[in-house]
Amino acid sequence: MGPPGAGKGTQAKFIAEHFAIPAISTGDIFRANVTSGTELGVEAKRYMDAGEYVPDEVTNQMVRNRIDEPDAEPGFLLDGYPRTLAQVEELDGMIKHTGHALDAVVVLTVNQDEVVDRLLQRAETEGRADDTAEVIRRRQEIYAEETAPLIEVYRDRGLLIEVDGLGEIDDVTQRIFDALDVVPQS
Ligand code: AMP
Repeated sequence: MGPPGAGKGTQAKFIAEHFAIPAISTGDIFRANVTSGTELGVEAKRYMDAGEYVPDEVTNQMVRNRIDEPDAEPGFLLDGYPRTLAQVEELDGMIKHTGHALDAVVVLTVNQDEVVDRLLQRAETEGRADDTAEVIRRRQEIYAEETAPLIEVYRDRGLLIEVDGLGEIDDVTQRIFDALDVVPQS
């Protein structure tokens, strides 16, 4: 977890590689569907371009299908999901059904003002339609309203690992690994 521009996607890939599990990014799956013009992509694009969340039912079903794939059987890392309290509940049901349990929830903490520049830079290199100043502001707002409350939910469950997301990419990765090592594996 972490606000837009915290570096979730970048760090998710390193963690998934380390544990030899798939990194499942809901944002990437939506973008792939937008590119290939599927029905899901057409629906998701309306929300994404505005910086809003795609409706829970659509997102939940997509994640449910993805974690049922054989490569996720040994475990998986979710990047950008859950983002709402309803998604937390859905995920609980999904993983119970697969026999998995959540080991850890990593939150990358960053100063929102400082990451706006990072996001505007990404707009130039990756050309994401939702990396305009106006949409970034909306994505930050919706993160604060809908997703930030999840931090307390996972803190209460004893799963939360908070890591400073500012600084060099390698340093942040090292902080995450250091923190994960102290999490008892169940
Ligand atoms: P991301 O790449 O994680 O920043 O996601 C890009 C966009 O995809 C978000 O701004 C949302 O519009 C949509 N999205 C990704 N994950 C979710 C989710 N868990 N729930 C709802 N919408 C999502």
